[in-house]
Amino acid sequence: MWSLSLLASMTILVAALFLFSTFNQSAASTAAQAPAETSIDHVILISVDGLRPEAMLPPLVDQHPAMKQLTQGAWTAQARCDPDISITLPNHVGMITGRLVAGELGHGWVGNTDPPSRTMGGTLHLKPGHYISSVFDVAHDAGLQTALISGKWKFVLFEQSYGEDAGGPDTFAPNYGKDKIDCFVCSPKPVEQVQQLAAFIQGASDRNKKTFTFLHLAPSDFAGHASGWDLSDGSPYRHALLDIDHALGLILSKINDSPTLKGRVAIVLTADHAGGVPFLNHLEPDAPVNFTIPFVVWSGVNQTPVDLYSINTTSRHCPAVNERFSDNPLPPIRNAEAGNTCLMLLGLPAIPGSTVNARQDLLVAAPLKK
Ligand SMILES: [Zn+2]
Repeated sequence: MWSLSLLASMTILVAALFLFSTFNQSAASTAAQAPAETSIDHVILISVDGLRPEAMLPPLVDQHPAMKQLTQGAWTAQARCDPDISITLPNHVGMITGRLVAGELGHGWVGNTDPPSRTMGGTLHLKPGHYISSVFDVAHDAGLQTALISGKWKFVLFEQSYGEDAGGPDTFAPNYGKDKIDCFVCSPKPVEQVQQLAAFIQGASDRNKKTFTFLHLAPSDFAGHASGWDLSDGSPYRHALLDIDHALGLILSKINDSPTLKGRVAIVLTADHAGGVPFLNHLEPDAPVNFTIPFVVWSGVNQTPVDLYSINTTSRHCPAVNERFSDNPLPPIRNAEAGNTCLMLLGLPAIPGSTVNARQDLLVAAPLKK
C-alpha cells in the first residue's frame, strides 16, 4: 500500500489540484463518449526524455529489469520522433495532441523553453487560432481522473493550455468541466514522481475511478546534455538509465502487487527524441541517433512479446535504420501515436482533430493463438 504520510513528505515543486467529481457510470455512457469494452482501467503514458532505444535492447536491457519486463509486450526499437523536429516540447505536444508540428493540421508549437504565461500566449491554442484538443480532453470528458507528472517545468504549457482558464468545454453530459488535468506535478526526481503517480492511481482505483496519467522522466536528457549520450559502461547517461529503470520497476511492482490494479493497467512508453548529434544535444532532426526511439505497449497479462511493425504491416512501414523520410505511403510508428493509443486502450475515441493514429488502427497485441 502507498501511505499518505509518504506522499505528504515528498518534495513537490508544484502541486496539484485534485478534482474528484462524482463518477457516474451510466451517465458517462453517452452516445458520443461511450467507452468500448476493455479490461484496462488505467493507462500510464511514460515519456523517457532522450531515451536511446539501445537501453531496451541486448546487451543493455539485461541491466534494466523493468525495461525488460516492459518489452514483454508489443514494441519496437525503430519508432520515430516528429520528422521535422527532435527537441523536447514539440514532441510532447505531439504525444498529447496526436498531431505533428508542421502543416495546416500541425500543432505548430516549436518552442522548447519555459512558455510565456497563459495570458501572454503560453497556450497551444493561440497561435493556430483555434482550440487544439488533447488526450486529457477526451479522458477527462469521459469521467476519468487525469494527471500530468513532469520532470521539467516547461510542461506547465499543458497545465496552461488545459486548465480551468483555457481548457475546452465538456459538451457531453455529465459536464466534467474545463480543467482537463486534475493533478499537475513537477519534480525532477523519478522516485518522487513515481510515488506520486502510484498514489494517484491507487487512490482513484479505490474510489472506482479510471485514470489517464502522463509521466515524464527527465534524468536521461539531463545526463545527455551534461556528459553526452554516452552508452559506455559507467557513463552518466548509463547511470541515468539505471535510475529510470529503478523508477519504472517501482511502478511495475506497485501494479503487480496490487490486487485491484494487476491486469487493469496498461503502459505506453516512448521518448520525445533520443540524442547524441551533436554529442551533448539532439538538435539535428536528420541524425538517426536523435530520431530513433522505442515505442512500447505493455499490459502485464496474457501478453506475447511481438514486434509492433510485424502486426501492423498494412498500416505502418518499418523504416530503414537511417531513414527519416521514405517514399512508402505508410507512415512509421511515431511517438505522436501515443495519445490515441492510450485512449484506444481505455476504450475511448481519438483526440478530435488529431492526425497521427487518428483511426486508432495501431494494433498493440499479437493475435490470439487459435
Ligand atoms: Zn534535451
